[in-house]
Amino acid sequence: MTDVKYKRIILKLSGEALAGNQGIGINPPEIKKVAAEIKEVYKLGVEIAIVVGGGNMWRGESGAQMGMERSQADYIGMLATVMNALALQDNLESIGVPTRVQTSIEMRQIAEPYIRRKAIRHLEKGRIVIFAAGTGSPYFSTDTTAALRASEINADVILMAKNGVDGIYSADPQKDEHAVKFDKLTHLDIINKGLNVMDTTASSLSMDNDIPLVVFNMNKSGNIKRVVEGEAIGTTVKG
Ligand code: UDP
Repeated sequence: MTDVKYKRIILKLSGEALAGNQGIGINPPEIKKVAAEIKEVYKLGVEIAIVVGGGNMWRGESGAQMGMERSQADYIGMLATVMNALALQDNLESIGVPTRVQTSIEMRQIAEPYIRRKAIRHLEKGRIVIFAAGTGSPYFSTDTTAALRASEINADVILMAKNGVDGIYSADPQKDEHAVKFDKLTHLDIINKGLNVMDTTASSLSMDNDIPLVVFNMNKSGNIKRVVEGEAIGTTVKG
């Protein structure tokens, strides 16, 4: 393996990352770009597990705000993540990267059920594992899924790829010209300052299990590789 900072990573891709400019749905050229970026990291010999979101199609909270029963709305969200996972799998395999999709809700015709030991075995054998259907439980997010799976598989880090934002800011840099970027933070800082990075469940799980997080801009080509190789970009959250 090439000299890298992180040997086993969880890459958290929000649904948005697969949607392109329009922000909704699945955009094949965009997924192609993402897959190519991932392949560059894969070629370094890094073990990669991916947690995909579903916000490009559906968010349970929005459904609930429109009068749906929350759990039911959340299940729709989890199913959205499976669609994204299959699209990503298709693109990675088409460029020669072996993958397995594991879902937290069983759907054996299209993916394996989530089995922790099997996921680890896949990683050891050089397959990328894509975790879909979140935690399998409503009221959670795919950020929490990333923190949970990272803890379970002993990942070295969660890499949170953001669309157009190059790290964590004190306020939304697109709305507030006084927003400042943080280079380093703790998980507790995120909770205490109420920073809009991940939900508090995800932050506290990452804090309790000592999982570092790097938040960086996905739109700049080569950035996932840069983070894995230890370049100080984005914001690192530790402790
Ligand atoms: N979801 C859920 N439980 C989980 C993970 C996700 O109920 O463990 C649902 C929830 O409704 C959420 C949707 O799936 O809004 C899509 O996930 P998320 O919002 O985390 O996607 P992202 O913002 O990363 O695209």
